[in-house]
Amino acid sequence: MVYLILSQQSIMKGGIVIPNIDFTALMLNVSSSDIEKSDIITIGDTIYYDVTLVRKPMSCPYCKGKMIGHDHKRKLIKHPAVREHNGIIRYNANRYICKACGKTAMEKNPFSFSGFNSSFFLLRNVLKMLANLNYTLSMISDELNISATQLNTYIDSYITIPHRPLPECLGIDELHSEELSRRNSSYLCVLVDNEKRSVYNILDSRSKANISLYFSDIPREERCKVKYVTIDMWEPYRDVAKTYFPNCIIAVDPFHVVKHLHGNFERLRIDLMNHCDYGSNAYYLLKKWS
Ligand SMILES: [Zn+2]
Repeated sequence: MVYLILSQQSIMKGGIVIPNIDFTALMLNVSSSDIEKSDIITIGDTIYYDVTLVRKPMSCPYCKGKMIGHDHKRKLIKHPAVREHNGIIRYNANRYICKACGKTAMEKNPFSFSGFNSSFFLLRNVLKMLANLNYTLSMISDELNISATQLNTYIDSYITIPHRPLPECLGIDELHSEELSRRNSSYLCVLVDNEKRSVYNILDSRSKANISLYFSDIPREERCKVKYVTIDMWEPYRDVAKTYFPNCIIAVDPFHVVKHLHGNFERLRIDLMNHCDYGSNAYYLLKKWS
């Protein structure tokens, strides 16, 4: 059901003049002088921003010849929701044809990246949510109505996290992941800055090959500055530390030492208990040890 249609000119609504083109320009982040035609239409729970841009002189990307207006191509681009109404830009993109070679080309799309059906505004909201580590990718995908595939493509294509220098005191540990266990490896490798007590990086597998590949990409000069590496008692970590951090002292994380001691002590206690007569004082004391 169409219940609100704003024309491209300013309209009177309740005695207030709504400068529609300016409003559209603001919502779409283009200048109002660039808009040839625009409408904002609400149908059901979706707001449609219909827009056609002013044609501009364009030279052919193939032969540099002069191009003239040809036709339009409709593109649908997802835009942020406003008051629980999803947004869609119905972009009537101008197509040009070259007078010299006859090839056609589209105008530069000011609303979205090529190959993406989400607007720059919507992707900016993605970035804001990504900055909050309490959100998972599927939560962002649901909240902003962007497919998980598109979200991943966006992150892989446009988000680069600058490399941080390795900490002087590096901790290597793992974390069990249900998600990974359905694929190739069931453990994530967690790299920790022991001094700052913060996570340095997380690798998607703790396999020796994977960790070696990661560290081999870091220049040797930087790896030589690592003074201490703390690990649990998993041998591949020790091998990797010896290979890639030639100046480091390898230490076993105290947590794992205590855990190991405790485990062995428990085994010893139960062995001793099993050698005592059932129901005797010694059996009872050993059974209630912990
Ligand atoms: Zn041409």
